Amino acid sequence: MSTSLLYHGFGIRGYHYVKTTYQGGKVTFSIRQEREDLRCPVCESRRIVRRGFQLRCFRSLPIGCRPVQIRLDVPRVGCSDCGEVRQVRIDFADPRRSYTKAFERYVLELSRHMTIRDVAEHLQVGWDLVKDIQKRYLGRKFRHIKLKDLRRIAIDEISIGRGHRYLTVVLDLLSGAVVFVGEGKGADALKPFWKRLKRSRAKIEAVAMDMSPAYISAVQTHLSKAVIVFDHFHIIKLFNEKLSDLRRELYREATEQLHKNVLKGTRWLLLKNPENLDNTRDESKRLHEALTLNQPLATAYYLKEDLRRVWEQPDRSAAQRVLDDWIRRAECSGIRMLIRFAHTLAAHRSGILNYYRYRISTGPLEGTNTKIRVLQRKAYGFRDAEFFKLKIYALHETRYELVG
Ligand SMILES: [Zn+2]
Repeated sequence: MSTSLLYHGFGIRGYHYVKTTYQGGKVTFSIRQEREDLRCPVCESRRIVRRGFQLRCFRSLPIGCRPVQIRLDVPRVGCSDCGEVRQVRIDFADPRRSYTKAFERYVLELSRHMTIRDVAEHLQVGWDLVKDIQKRYLGRKFRHIKLKDLRRIAIDEISIGRGHRYLTVVLDLLSGAVVFVGEGKGADALKPFWKRLKRSRAKIEAVAMDMSPAYISAVQTHLSKAVIVFDHFHIIKLFNEKLSDLRRELYREATEQLHKNVLKGTRWLLLKNPENLDNTRDESKRLHEALTLNQPLATAYYLKEDLRRVWEQPDRSAAQRVLDDWIRRAECSGIRMLIRFAHTLAAHRSGILNYYRYRISTGPLEGTNTKIRVLQRKAYGFRDAEFFKLKIYALHETRYELVG
């Protein structure tokens, strides 16, 4: 070992190598700082008086599987210029850290290929230390997320865990990156986002979201010039929920056992797209039976199929005809659930048809939400909310993505 190897191998420069000791499988390099290099850490003055030492140990790069630590008596100095008494500054480690910068870089490099647990085991350090290194790195990286170039965004909420915990996520639809994660759902969760967005002076053209009144009023307030596009997946999902409710209601009201039997177990058949029905299991036949017996169910079912067509038109005016026709038929159906749904669509008509101005949806957020749930299962979500958020921001960064 030498002073030169300390520098080239371990990133420690400006110190003198003293000795190496081996204990319990661990290698310790003792190093020393020269008296003439001492400065005041606050004002950089060289007019200082020595005030003893503070022994400190730093984890450093391992040699093979052997942990290595650096041992240094850090001089304390009193400054004649500013009057402070402090430990001198150390270049090879960040303040208050018990590991060197080279060690930190190595942990981050390993983290691109291994889980936190694997890195911790390999380096014989605690899980929390690896996590802290990742957290500090991600924190620096995502402290200021650039919002200036945002043009099209998707907003949606995601429920995580078994409790009723929600996160509100904003996605940049052009880059695919998560640009904001808010705690909770509804208008409050978005407040910090509007503040940051305003400061960035981004010019948002269009927003994809569901028909929730909280989002609508928030977007109208904070992005008065943006075009709202109601997400078609959410609309179809909402209709499917109403269709399931209707089937349940009809089942409850059905008096004959035969009638009940036919309705029973048709929920999934009703929700399936017709081209996906499995005829080896008589699914078309069973669905047909249920529809023949129940006029209201049949009406709702065929309207469900027609609803999808709103988003399959060549242009806005064709879509408008399909939508208006749908609304009229639903209103005339005499079925309460359909009439209500028709009113909902009529009230959100222009936002639905805006799909033909900006063909955007919250679809890209679905993939992100799946990844968020995977992260959450790895328990980040509960141990440290801030770390969990940073991990969500990092999802998109494949180049720097850190493995669980
Ligand atoms: Zn000073």
